[in-house]
Amino acid sequence: MDIIKAPRGVRDVLPDESWKWAYVMDAARKVSNVFGYSEVHLPIFEHTELFARGIGDSTDVVEKEMYTFEDRSGRSLTLRPELTASMVRCYLEHGMSQKVQPVKMWSAGPMFRYERPQKGRYRQFWQLDVEALGSDAPEVDLEIISFAIYLFDMLGLSNLEVVVNSVGCPECRPTYRQALKDYVGSKFELLCPTCQNRFDRNPLRILDCKNEGCREIMKEAPGMTDYLCDECKEHFHRVKEGMSLLGIHYKEDKNLVRGLDYYTKTAFEVLSGELGAQNAVCGGGRYDNLAEAIGGPHVPGVGFAAGIERIVLTMEGQGCDFGPKPAIDVFVVTADDSAKRAAMKLLYEIRQNRISVDMDYSGKSLGSQLKMASNKEARLACILGDTELQKGVVTVKDLASGSQEEVSRDSLVDYIRHSIAH
Ligand code: AMP
Repeated sequence: MDIIKAPRGVRDVLPDESWKWAYVMDAARKVSNVFGYSEVHLPIFEHTELFARGIGDSTDVVEKEMYTFEDRSGRSLTLRPELTASMVRCYLEHGMSQKVQPVKMWSAGPMFRYERPQKGRYRQFWQLDVEALGSDAPEVDLEIISFAIYLFDMLGLSNLEVVVNSVGCPECRPTYRQALKDYVGSKFELLCPTCQNRFDRNPLRILDCKNEGCREIMKEAPGMTDYLCDECKEHFHRVKEGMSLLGIHYKEDKNLVRGLDYYTKTAFEVLSGELGAQNAVCGGGRYDNLAEAIGGPHVPGVGFAAGIERIVLTMEGQGCDFGPKPAIDVFVVTADDSAKRAAMKLLYEIRQNRISVDMDYSGKSLGSQLKMASNKEARLACILGDTELQKGVVTVKDLASGSQEEVSRDSLVDYIRHSIAH
């Protein structure tokens, strides 16, 4: 029988990578505190309708990429492809409009999309999601953008740039949509089949088609910002003004649209890296109509989602520092069975002092145990044999320098603590 492997497009995050994730998540947690966002844990699956209505029926995510299944009582459920719709659902369900606005929340966890897997694109991937709900102030858009920049700065990503656009609102977008259709309609035959399909249902998506031919055509397409109503224009102006005030580099891109229907006004991505090899580490924007789309009252909101795999890959590519790789401090080495018994007690005592320590349980030779200690990158080996037991000492070997000395059993923890602090 063949070994059962993980399904296509999903991956195991192994110890040599997971510590980097922990570093990123730790930074995210710190920035959330600094900005006053609280963590929430949301369900992995929701009613399919939440995503169909909240993200929009004619988006790629809903049309082609959702993991949808019926549970045993025939309800249609979907593994979350993103978190914004769930955040808004959570806000509505718990009556958060009664709280001080905006309600600021963040969450992180796995998302699921049936996409064609490639490096940096998976069917299960992690997102950090940050949302502010209940305010339409442009300063909140600015806060969200500066949150992302602050985080990526803290992680050491270089050449950060915000690409920003406004996608208008239901008042001004129809006129733009028509202008866009008039332009695209005259070149319909030249569009890729996917964009021909998008023409009636979601023409804005043609703007960010990755097909070379479509991109060439869309370079000359009219831009939303020329069609914004006064309110959207003022909003966009204030967001940009705020970024200049905070010294955040930004570039306007008239073809930046987020692939999801609920976005209004601000749409942005953060790129990191050299120009040319542009790398979107996060995407976000404002979604003032999402709450209504899922059956609630009007609740404006703005937020962003960043892919953890992409952040880690970008950091690796740019040689960013992930902090010290976690290694154990101490490895206990035993000469025989009686030493092993004493070692069990020693091990637990060291652990109770919050010092990381490990040992071999399989009865390997002294030499092999010392090799294990080096493999595990321990700082010190604590050697216990007959002589040590009789004298009430432990031989402590510094694995980097090779030097060793006898330390009395009573002062061992202090000795270790002192040694590993240097
Ligand atoms: P989106 O929700 O599509 O706006 O994506 C937000 C961020 O999530 C992107 O900038 C990526 O960092 C990440 N992301 C989206 N889809 C995937 C995927 N299939 N695999 C890995 N990361 C992804």
